[in-house]
Amino acid sequence: MANFNTHLILSTTLSTALAAGLLSGQLITFPATPLLILLGTLAGILPDLDLPHSVPNRLFFALLSLLATLSIVLYPPYPLPIWLLLLLSIPTYLLIEYISSHLFDKFTVHRGNFHSLLAAACCALGTTALLFHAFSLSASTAWLAGGITLSTYLAHCLTDEFSSINFRQWRLKSSFGTACKLFSLRYKISTLLLMLMTGIAFYATPPFSEISTLMKSL
Ligand SMILES: [Zn+2]
Repeated sequence: MANFNTHLILSTTLSTALAAGLLSGQLITFPATPLLILLGTLAGILPDLDLPHSVPNRLFFALLSLLATLSIVLYPPYPLPIWLLLLLSIPTYLLIEYISSHLFDKFTVHRGNFHSLLAAACCALGTTALLFHAFSLSASTAWLAGGITLSTYLAHCLTDEFSSINFRQWRLKSSFGTACKLFSLRYKISTLLLMLMTGIAFYATPPFSEISTLMKSL
């Protein structure tokens, strides 16, 4: 398994190179470039989310708990006094930072479904749909962002797979074949859930026609 720094450097370099290429080809605008680099970098470390206490794992739940806490205070579902919102933000933070992360670690297995082509597709399609619907990016930019996240996610899986080869002795380590599988046959329920999420994400993606027209114009 490659370490966190290797994955971080690889995903940052790859997403920067891809975004720079898209920018020079005038396929994306300059303001969208940092966002695509950031998403590509995050996707490149995402497969290790299922590794308890890893940097991606801790970073994800810290960010999620922070976002949920801020959402409770800034966008309450009902008009409530500020003291009550601040009071509610404490259990929200604790619930996500400690309880949900504990449950996540309990029900996920490292190199289960997160290191798979199915998870990479789910991440890419989910990113495309989210950017188009929630952030109002154009269909072509959303699809290109999805393409960058797919590239860095797969780069992570392939790097882990290559790390399972002992090139000095031309021997395969026992972990070989676990990092870049199509999907996990061992964890059937999570595979079905991931298939369902991928299908929903695909259904929510914007039309592909805009990006294909853009590609033909090159
Ligand atoms: Zn990994």
